[in-house]
Amino acid sequence: MRISNRKRVLVTGGAGFLGSHLCERLLSEGCDVLSVDNFYSGTRDNIAHLFANPRFELIRHDITFPLYIEVDEIYNLACPASPIHYQRDPVQTTKTSVHGAINMLGLAKRTKARILQASTSEVYGDPEVHPQPEGYWGRVNPIGIRSCYDEGKRCAETLFFDYHRQHGLEVKVVRIFNTYGPRMHPNDGRVVSNFIVQALRGEDITIYGDGSQTRSFCYVSDLIDGFVRMMASEPVLTGPLNMGNPVEYTILELAESILGLVGGRSRLVFKPLPQDDPRQRKPDISLASTALRWEPQVSLPDGLSATVAYFRGLLDL
Ligand code: NAD
Ligand code: UDP
Repeated sequence: MRISNRKRVLVTGGAGFLGSHLCERLLSEGCDVLSVDNFYSGTRDNIAHLFANPRFELIRHDITFPLYIEVDEIYNLACPASPIHYQRDPVQTTKTSVHGAINMLGLAKRTKARILQASTSEVYGDPEVHPQPEGYWGRVNPIGIRSCYDEGKRCAETLFFDYHRQHGLEVKVVRIFNTYGPRMHPNDGRVVSNFIVQALRGEDITIYGDGSQTRSFCYVSDLIDGFVRMMASEPVLTGPLNMGNPVEYTILELAESILGLVGGRSRLVFKPLPQDDPRQRKPDISLASTALRWEPQVSLPDGLSATVAYFRGLLDL
């Protein structure tokens, strides 16, 4: 028998960068939050400040194994997101996306929960359409070093839409473009955390390639707001739906902005470009903007300042 009327929300990957911010937001809205994580790339530290809240629960669990709990909504975020982390154990990465999706969709089916998938702009691969609208099918190498992540996420999307068509599940698929902010892992190799940590330590800033490749950077609070709006939207809005900041920067411009903020004596050094590194990436967010009235609010300088302050505290610099 159900005693409380509060919504019980499961966040897989709840101890990770995005998951920890999402747990915080859901608690602030009065939900009961169950965070499931196997700590592959996340840490208890990211959510330690939530332990005192009686509406928060942490379960150590690997979503490649079935999970039997009772929930009303599921945000499926579990999956390492940085190339260094997802390439460390590529087989586990694919399993997390594919077996994990099957398990979480099975849970959603049994509990009749609405389920949101954290998909990625990587489903577009190295795109030849720019900016990328949701209708673009992508250009992904199926056998490269990024494939465990890209193809795993593509297969997860397939599973979400098949469960929707075959079993009538209420699904929401969000394709996230590069997102940054406090609680990114300092050693995860992603460009924003790498450059900030290098600049704060006075080390060389490592530009891969000539730095002319582009990315669009979304601040974490904007993305979390989009997640919550998407989950609350009409059932007919399944996605896939792009979420990210459409303002595009070259990697060189990003390095210069971070150096400008941090100051110090770091030099820019150029290293080989990793295999299959996309040349350009920028979301077309027309769908999110019309269907959810969602647009990013935080500018890159403001978001970077908050992120620099976080890493300064973390590294004690
Ligand atoms: P993250 O690595 O900080 O968080 C992922 C979390 O999932 C970690 O806490 C990790 O321990 C956990 N996890 C991994 N495998 C698991 C498993 N088998 N069972 C249970 N927990 C597991 O990454 P993030 O940046 O917070 O990304 C969260 C989600 O958003 C991921 O699915 C990622 O693919 C997606 N995403 C993120 C970005 C971004 O820019 N941050 C971009 C596109 C997509
Ligand atoms: N990058 C870089 N130096 C670094 C880390 C990353 O020049 O120290 C580049 C990387 O090659 C890519 C871009 O920055 O072109 C974004 O990399 P990230 O790993 O953050 O995300 P993704 O490639 O998945 O978008």
